[in-house]
Amino acid sequence: MSSSVLVRHYVGGVFDASGDPFPLVDPVRGRPTGEVPAASAELVDRAVRAAREALAGPWGSWAPADRARVLHRIADGIEERFEEFVAAECADTGKPHELAAGVDIPRAAANFRAYADRPAGRSEQSWHTETPDGRGALNYTVRKPLGVVAVISPWNLPLLLLTWKVAPALAMGNTVVAKPSELTPRTACLLAEVAAAAGLPPGVLNLVHGKGADAAGQWLTEHPGVDAVAFTGESATGTTIMRAAAARLAPVSFELGGKNAGLVFADADLEQAVAGTLRSAFTHSGQVCLCTERLYVERPVFDEFAARLAEGARKLEGYGPMISAAHRDKVLGHLARAAADGEVLAGGGAPHFGDDRDGGFWVEPTVLAGLPEDHPAVREEIFGPVVHLAPFDTEAEALTLANAGPYGLAATVWTGDLARAHRVAPALDVGIAWVNTWNLRDLRTPFGGVKASGIGREGGDHSLDFFSEPMNVCVKL
Ligand code: NAD
Repeated sequence: MSSSVLVRHYVGGVFDASGDPFPLVDPVRGRPTGEVPAASAELVDRAVRAAREALAGPWGSWAPADRARVLHRIADGIEERFEEFVAAECADTGKPHELAAGVDIPRAAANFRAYADRPAGRSEQSWHTETPDGRGALNYTVRKPLGVVAVISPWNLPLLLLTWKVAPALAMGNTVVAKPSELTPRTACLLAEVAAAAGLPPGVLNLVHGKGADAAGQWLTEHPGVDAVAFTGESATGTTIMRAAAARLAPVSFELGGKNAGLVFADADLEQAVAGTLRSAFTHSGQVCLCTERLYVERPVFDEFAARLAEGARKLEGYGPMISAAHRDKVLGHLARAAADGEVLAGGGAPHFGDDRDGGFWVEPTVLAGLPEDHPAVREEIFGPVVHLAPFDTEAEALTLANAGPYGLAATVWTGDLARAHRVAPALDVGIAWVNTWNLRDLRTPFGGVKASGIGREGGDHSLDFFSEPMNVCVKL
């Protein structure tokens, strides 16, 4: 799918395409489709200063209801230009149209709506008053914005994950400098246009493009004028960003990598578990942080489950490519090692189409088995259409296997036993456990990971808490 969106920075209310450009590549065919201007350090500095000035401008005195109105208008703007957003997201990511149109872009609009009205009820400037404490004092809490927030987002769900942070940050009265992934910048540009048209004052939302290390991402996180950093991406990048933020003790909210486990018990509805795992392993070709990459199946049903999952994987159609040549090569490298050390039950390489898609970055839906738990394909995040199956014998063993490793983002439990579901799910070392489903999201629930998968929680009031500081005022009566 093509998109005519011109990639531009948006700083202090002005669009600008300055900076040395690098190519944007269509992952479906591997051809250049546009250019990204790389922001200079000077432009990043200007964006942070514009955001600081906007805090002191009219935006700083807007009531939550005024902010809510403009956030709703941004959601309206996304819906009015829906097809442009879908085309831009598909052009950047190569993802199937139904994913962008059915999930990503509607969710981006929903993010603005979900956060538009939330602060008015809960986090109004003086959001709760405590009664006199018996010592002649009245205490109340004032919730203030953090100030200038840097939002850095990845390429897999570009607009969804960007708006997931921008919307609550704005709802709480902050100003934002956003840097989307250099691989997928187009929908962020459309968002800036929509925000401007919706009446968001200049400087409240700024957008700079460029890469991470030694570029816009690093300059933004190291900038002394940035009061907090909200980041989604790889765990290793999180470590680098945390170091930059630590220098000035700026708070961070991190949504990082995962190596998510699924547990299939013999008492599960196998048809449901197979269909659910095909979704959880292969949605967006496994390029969703919540995707299942390790599946542990109770031994009595292992062979049947493995055969049905492999058959389902072989029949999958309409999947998309990897985001880049480098990422495709990383995934294929894992597959080559896995094929040498274990079994490939389905897929295992690059598909052959016999058309111009053969120039793109494709990997077949792949089911592996027989690898030891310390194998890189079982321990490291692959972030591709790859799931490894291993058998287990007891519930305790299943939990030990699922909880091993450095990550703790999400897990899925497939069982027909209600007591087991409630025993196992809370015992998993993850931020989110699904039972007999996957990626069913209520935006009010806490979202995030434990261990190397994240710091803090977003979603509902958790995001509003992160993007604000509670302050105590004590008045002697
Ligand atoms: P990435 O860490 O390579 O890049 C993410 C963003 O950080 C990009 O905008 C990039 O330019 C920027 N960046 C890179 N180096 C930087 C630096 N030194 N300083 C500042 N910014 C820098 O991640 P990615 O490859 O874009 O995304 C895939 C990763 O994101 C996977 O690990 C996936 O699990 C994770 N992810 C997590 C969640 C979640 O909610 N937990 C959601 C989506 C993706």
